[in-house]
Amino acid sequence: MLRRLPYGANYLELEDMHELKYCIGEKILFRYQTTGDSMAEKMEQTAAAFFGTQYALGTHNCTEGLRVALLSTHPKVGDKVYIPAVTFVAVAGAVLSCGLIPVLVDVDEFLCMDMNALPPDAERVIVAHMEGSVAPLREGFPFLIEDAAQALGGRHADGVHAGAKGYCGVFSFHHNKILTSGEGGLIITNNGDAYAKMKLYHDHGCQRVHGEYPTWNKDTFYGENCVTSEIIASVQLQQFRHLEQIRTGLERGYRILREEVGPNGFAIRERRPGDMKLSLRLEFGEEGERSALERILKEKGLPYWTLEKYFLPDHPVLHYRNSIYADNFPWNLAPDYELPDLSATRSRLKRTICLPVSPELDEAAQVSEARAFAAALRQFTPLAQLA
Ligand SMILES: *Cc1c(COP(=O)(O)O)cnc(C)c1O
Repeated sequence: MLRRLPYGANYLELEDMHELKYCIGEKILFRYQTTGDSMAEKMEQTAAAFFGTQYALGTHNCTEGLRVALLSTHPKVGDKVYIPAVTFVAVAGAVLSCGLIPVLVDVDEFLCMDMNALPPDAERVIVAHMEGSVAPLREGFPFLIEDAAQALGGRHADGVHAGAKGYCGVFSFHHNKILTSGEGGLIITNNGDAYAKMKLYHDHGCQRVHGEYPTWNKDTFYGENCVTSEIIASVQLQQFRHLEQIRTGLERGYRILREEVGPNGFAIRERRPGDMKLSLRLEFGEEGERSALERILKEKGLPYWTLEKYFLPDHPVLHYRNSIYADNFPWNLAPDYELPDLSATRSRLKRTICLPVSPELDEAAQVSEARAFAAALRQFTPLAQLA
């Protein structure tokens, strides 16, 4: 009854893996191995058509996607990149490993970056659509990167896909994400110039003709190798076929959970229509109340997750500011670096709990899971009532 696998993993089925069987059967694992089209191209075309963008580029993972996207903006070493104060540490790691300095910006009650808090001259901004919540965007920043690693399939209020609005958008296919290929990343963009630079950088700075050794022209630059593989792209093609199932399963499960769970001394942080509704988020008045509910859920074997792990001011990477470089690059470029005091956000995260929605369950199973959550919540007594 309980969800044990990450969303996309529930749909990993060999019978459905004809692209993967083809690659193994033909012994073609590298995307430029043959003269014809590759699975990687097919995956990119599928993704671009799905997201409604002109370009899509597969990468090893989303962290590489962020790095490639940032580097394509021609930054100067030490430039600032504004990132949400509440997100996975990969966002900060991507910025730092490019020699750039992450500046933390507070988030609202939906965990969306407060774009009004950005300085008007901010150049590079990464907005993360956390835990399925699609953050509303503000225009006017030259390089707005949408990190949709946790919101693949979500949409903005105007119907545009999360990731498809800014300078570019990035996605993750890590095992824990909505679709999975174990590891895997994707960049989407409508900016042809950005796409050209990203494609060069992500492949040693070289030009590719299928089936031939690469070439380098005099205007290129050094790069890295973030080229995706035929195996990964094949699994991703299979996963895309199940995205709509996952999305409608989440919609239904969320509606059911919402019907079963009434307010009882906590606030319900409603999802927006375009969100990927991965969970029902409850916010308590006191940390102790959340701990009490956690104990009840654990006793009953019901799943839940919390979000303070994403609070970057408390993360060792930001807190201690160490580096693998002997001169502490790039932190050495920001000697006056200070973490903002976001105690209200820290406290809110410690009072928040997420009850997962299981999209792979049928309606009856979703109803019984929702009732189990509702029963656990009825057992919970708000502290105010005890006093
Ligand atoms: C998972 C995640 C990443 C990193 O993705 P990888 O594919 O594991 O590199 C980046 N940003 C956010 C918000 C994530 O949740």
